Amino acid sequence: MSIGKIVLADRVLQIPPSPTLAVNAKAKALRAAGADILNFSVGEPDLPTPTHVCNAGKQAIYDGHTRYTPVPGILELREAICARFKREQGWEYTPDEIQVSCGGKHGLYNIFQAILNPGDEVLIPLPYWVSYPPMVQLAGGTPVFVPLREENGFDLEPSVLEQYATSKTKAIILNSPSNPTGAVLSLAALEVVAAMALEHGWLVVSDDMYEEISYTEGKIPHILHVDPRLRDQVLISNGVSKSYAMTGWRIGYTAGPLDVIKAMNKIQSQSTSNPAAPSQYAALAALTGPQDFPALLREAFLPRRSFFVRELQALEGVSCVTPMGAFYVFPNFSAYYGKTCQGKTIDGSVALADYFLSEARVASVPGAAFGADDFIRFSFATSLEVIGKGMERIKQALKVLQ
Ligand SMILES: *Cc1c(COP(=O)(O)O)cnc(C)c1O
Repeated sequence: MSIGKIVLADRVLQIPPSPTLAVNAKAKALRAAGADILNFSVGEPDLPTPTHVCNAGKQAIYDGHTRYTPVPGILELREAICARFKREQGWEYTPDEIQVSCGGKHGLYNIFQAILNPGDEVLIPLPYWVSYPPMVQLAGGTPVFVPLREENGFDLEPSVLEQYATSKTKAIILNSPSNPTGAVLSLAALEVVAAMALEHGWLVVSDDMYEEISYTEGKIPHILHVDPRLRDQVLISNGVSKSYAMTGWRIGYTAGPLDVIKAMNKIQSQSTSNPAAPSQYAALAALTGPQDFPALLREAFLPRRSFFVRELQALEGVSCVTPMGAFYVFPNFSAYYGKTCQGKTIDGSVALADYFLSEARVASVPGAAFGADDFIRFSFATSLEVIGKGMERIKQALKVLQ
């Protein structure tokens, strides 16, 4: 037997290394060394999980809910999810059309595993959430990026969409409000997506993770309201992670046509079996208990958003679209690319994020992670005080660039 280099699976090798890896590692090392790093890279609310939800999780353990559950999740939770869809959106789903998964992320993973064959193309608006392209690739599909323009508020443009649709298009991913841009898709854009999906039989994967965190009046437009005939072509992905500050509990859910949910259950049964039982009871409490928490989140985020956007827009050469949802700002810093500091050239978002980290002790996420190198993502799931301090440091750091 020879001890050689281990040959890894092609599917792993085709996934490019994460552009955030180096910056994250550096931030971690600096923090470990005691540096005062202001962290704007976090993708989760800074409020704790509501107490009644924590108590429900704890109680579930003492009540003996410490064993396997049904693969798609406990019936009570799937019923509560159906009731919520009915109450909030007027949509009719039955519990067997719902899968509860280990976070919204694994729900999306299950979806692509269930629907994609080699050669199938998936339309992904760009900037995109980091995990969409690798998830599609790991399922054998091909990501096709549909560019969104900052000047258009990162809304989907019909003519652009038409350019990227082919006979191999199997699905399109919608994420409104969006991570990283905070954009909410317009009714006009959704109407075009709906018409094309109906005409060509596309599946629409609607990632509604930030549904509750929007700064617009009333409900944001949704593809299923635009054309209810799409019901059997739409997969709704959502979860409790962002709206109830429950990222660590790992509970997400998918609603969709029975055949797809059944296929997803097959995959889940051979991978995770089911999401953690106590977490499912905690999520049940979140969905059925007092519903004031998402409003608390919005109230906390709103002044931070206004302040952050105002400060960024005031920077010379920087543009910043006002996010209409989620808790990120996505300013364009490309005017600074090509500038140098002590002989080091800022050649893109990774270099700039690295520079902010070492010069300003500010951790951010380079736009390259979302396929958009002109931008930097800052999370405002942090205090106004930290945002103020961070902006001062960024201003100083930018001044030094030549
Ligand atoms: C956070 C996030 C998810 C998934 O969250 P989970 O923690 O896996 O529930 C999905 N989509 C987007 C856009 C997100 O930002």
